[in-house]
Amino acid sequence: MDRRAFLRTMRTLEARYPLKDWTTGMTPFEVLVSTILSQSTTAANERRGLEDLRRRVGSITPDRLAGTSDEEIARAIWHAGLARQKAPRIRATAVAIRGKWKGHIERILSLPTERAREELMALPGVGPKTADVVLAMAGGHPTFPVDTHIARIARRWELTRRKDYESIRRALEDRTPPEKRKAWHLAIIAHGRALCKARNPRCADCPVRADCDWYRRSRLRKQPPTPRKHGSSTKG
Ligand code: SF4
Repeated sequence: MDRRAFLRTMRTLEARYPLKDWTTGMTPFEVLVSTILSQSTTAANERRGLEDLRRRVGSITPDRLAGTSDEEIARAIWHAGLARQKAPRIRATAVAIRGKWKGHIERILSLPTERAREELMALPGVGPKTADVVLAMAGGHPTFPVDTHIARIARRWELTRRKDYESIRRALEDRTPPEKRKAWHLAIIAHGRALCKARNPRCADCPVRADCDWYRRSRLRKQPPTPRKHGSSTKG
């Protein structure tokens, strides 16, 4: 998919999936915890884990979580899955923010984008995707976080041949105006959930199939082979 096709596609998807900002009403630290909880689980289970954690500790702050045991956090976030791995990460991140940043993740988010990204990734349990989500969704930074839906769709649109996180992120940021990155990140995820699913994408219903490389190739694969003319030779 070339640049013009990408812009055309994204305008269509942006209109089809109006912005639904899941971070509305959340603090930046809650966005961070929510993103750690979302690893390898559904959005519904992540949200349930977050609500249970809030009920258990009162309010989700670095101070409160740093003072809560791993076991108690793990019990609270059980519904989000992988609780025994996620709980120590959440607690260690809370301890680090309380120590180095006096309990204010906002201090990291006020730094220039690349510096803020480095500082977020220096926190325990925070990788590039989590850092980019927090930067874009809680800090207003022009990053393009890549989740599993976005990675799959970028492959189907042949935005890059490479499969690693940074290459996909760069390919998307390179094609997307900074002020559109958050909205388009959310629009592609919505498209991945609604139509462009991992198995059996609903291409027949897809409004952007005319520009989609995956769709074009799948049609070519389905075309019957051209019948050979009588008497023709395969050797020329
Ligand atoms: S045409 Fe199919 S593969 Fe391409 S974006 Fe649409 S649903 Fe996804």
